[in-house]
Amino acid sequence: VEQRTRELARAMEELEQSKQEVMRALEKERQLNDMKTKFVTIASHEFRTPLATILSSASLIGRYVHSEEDEKRQKHVQRIKSTVNNLTEILNDFLSLGKLEEGQIRNVPVVFNLYEFCKEMVDELRSVCKENQQVQYIHTGDSEVCVDRHLLKNVLINLISNAAKYSGEGKDIFLNTAKVDSTLNIVIRDQGIGIPEQDIPYVFDRFFRAQNSGTIQGTGLGLNIVYKYVQLMNGNIHLDSKLNEGTRVSLVLPT
Ligand code: ADP
Repeated sequence: VEQRTRELARAMEELEQSKQEVMRALEKERQLNDMKTKFVTIASHEFRTPLATILSSASLIGRYVHSEEDEKRQKHVQRIKSTVNNLTEILNDFLSLGKLEEGQIRNVPVVFNLYEFCKEMVDELRSVCKENQQVQYIHTGDSEVCVDRHLLKNVLINLISNAAKYSGEGKDIFLNTAKVDSTLNIVIRDQGIGIPEQDIPYVFDRFFRAQNSGTIQGTGLGLNIVYKYVQLMNGNIHLDSKLNEGTRVSLVLPT
């Protein structure tokens, strides 16, 4: 009888474990479904406004085609360009997140010249900068590094785009890179709207947007992706910010 009781107790324990596994799987499934719904809602919402802007600007350009109003035409061309930039940013965030979830993104460090790489990127990023706004770049130390180029590029594009997006015209952005022994230190600093103190602990959370982000377009996905990329690179990221003064993001990466 004792033997049977022990067997029964073990069977009950296994049953309880299986029950908990099923519950966990169901909970994960529920979270995934919630996430999918949220994605669809955000994607539809985020795409509707820019698409409407492109459509209206395109039809206005059409109207000015045979007129002398070149300035108006240029304004609308500019508007289409920056809206397409926004859409591209949103799409890239969605794609990166999908790949991250599926574990498709790996850290593959390669040796390259960081200074040349950043200079080229800063040049490419002119299109996301505002009027009279530029990225001031300084590197110190040896410029040969060994990190994943794709991950680093994504991280820097995201952080510099944020710096530009959340700053006004004429407010320069500062990018500093330094190699010290086998560590790469990177700082991105802006003089923008900053983040309210109570929001700072949540900025790396998925879908989080600070209270003062107002009408500035965004999904709240960028910093979450950046955080995960930095983790993949075995690095650290830290964000400091002062409301109405600016934001400073520092990265420490092994190289
Ligand atoms: P978003 O797509 O909204 O820009 P992110 O994940 O990149 O999403 O950033 C999360 C939130 O953190 C933003 O919505 C914004 O409120 C705040 N934020 C991020 N970077 C900056 C910055 N450089 N200056 C001010 N606020 C920022």
